[in-house]
Amino acid sequence: MTATMTNATLVERARQVIPGGVNSGNRVLPWPIAFVRAEGAYLFDADDRQYLDYHAAFGPIILGHNHPQVNAAVAEAMSRIDIIGAGVTDLEVELADRLNRHIPCAERVLLTNSGSEATYAALRLARAVTGRNKIIKFQGTYHGWHDAVLMNVISPPEKIGQHDPLSLGMLPDVIRHTIVLPFNDTEAVADTLHRQGEEIAAVLVEVIPHNIGCVLPRPEFLQALRDLTRQHGVMLIFDEVITGFRHALGGYQSIVGVTPDLATFAKAMANGFPIAALAGRAELMDRFAPGGGVFFAGTYNGHSIGVAAALATIAELESGEVHAHCFALAQIAADGLMQIAAELGIPLTVARFGSVFVPYFMEPAPIENYTDLFRNNTARDLWFRKTMCEHGIFMIPTALKRNHVSAAHTRADIDRTLEIARQVLRAMP
Ligand code: PLP
Repeated sequence: MTATMTNATLVERARQVIPGGVNSGNRVLPWPIAFVRAEGAYLFDADDRQYLDYHAAFGPIILGHNHPQVNAAVAEAMSRIDIIGAGVTDLEVELADRLNRHIPCAERVLLTNSGSEATYAALRLARAVTGRNKIIKFQGTYHGWHDAVLMNVISPPEKIGQHDPLSLGMLPDVIRHTIVLPFNDTEAVADTLHRQGEEIAAVLVEVIPHNIGCVLPRPEFLQALRDLTRQHGVMLIFDEVITGFRHALGGYQSIVGVTPDLATFAKAMANGFPIAALAGRAELMDRFAPGGGVFFAGTYNGHSIGVAAALATIAELESGEVHAHCFALAQIAADGLMQIAAELGIPLTVARFGSVFVPYFMEPAPIENYTDLFRNNTARDLWFRKTMCEHGIFMIPTALKRNHVSAAHTRADIDRTLEIARQVLRAMP
């Protein structure tokens, strides 16, 4: 590294050549940091600072950064086959087989490079098979950057109950076809399907809305979605881009025992390599086959890099040891944070599922949907995250975002995190 490659110089250069200095609107940080290395549970910046990583790149990292077996599998695949772009490769067949075996709704799978492409294809298929245009999503969920879904994630109170698109340039006619309902509200879904069911192609749901932290579905909610969509001839699509592989190899659907028509996967599926999947019933998915009338393509779909990484990641997850390790450590982190806050008299509740934990700065109370999170003290949430980062614990300084434990985190890492959290919370203004 040359002496001029500091955080400040790299970030300044980035701002001159990349709009806003970042390649995703969700990556903006309040201080200049340019990362130069990631290893195990740690990130390293250009000023040689080390951070314990709970951000996990928004979720893909479940085995730890730069995992040797995954990297070796990718290198091995690349030494043999990079990309052909015609027919199919042996690796793609092996991965499709493996996904069909693990995921309850999967009889057929298709591969894309990102979660957004997978949710886009799912909605296109749902519209094609039903001949209907409208879809239902829920307030607080994120499904990618395309026009049908990029709305009503973290909305201000005055936008609840109306469309809240996240970008200029989205087609009003597409936005108009998306109905936004409160999560966990079976009655709202039943009522909407009763009134407009014949116009609705799909209910698209983040099974755990992890884009607002960790809001669990009521036990009966997902089953009600299953029953209601079936009753009205509507496709039920589970977005398991975050929950898939992170919580279970078969996704959250394998935990709750509710099987959707279609489901999307990405992130933890390949421990950080770019790949995503759309899975579903054969009868539906085969509409993408020649003669089925529904188009699906992508130059890099099924690229050997992502496929080899997914196969190696799944092999690591199959023993169950990774999940057991991560879940146990996340539980210790969540309990520890709540204990410290209670001792210091700070209102804090930590929501956790599996390896994901999220501190909300509010009195413990049921959290069932996005509006329950208006009680979160955003100023404290941001201050806590920012100060933890300054102390070398990387919890992305964006309100409501989740922390992820990976197989590379150790009990000592969690204990150190809690020690630092105690100092930080004690100093909280
Ligand atoms: N669905 C969910 C639940 C997500 O969290 C995300 C991304 O964060 C997406 C879809 C979109 O995936 P990608 O960013 O890979 O396009």
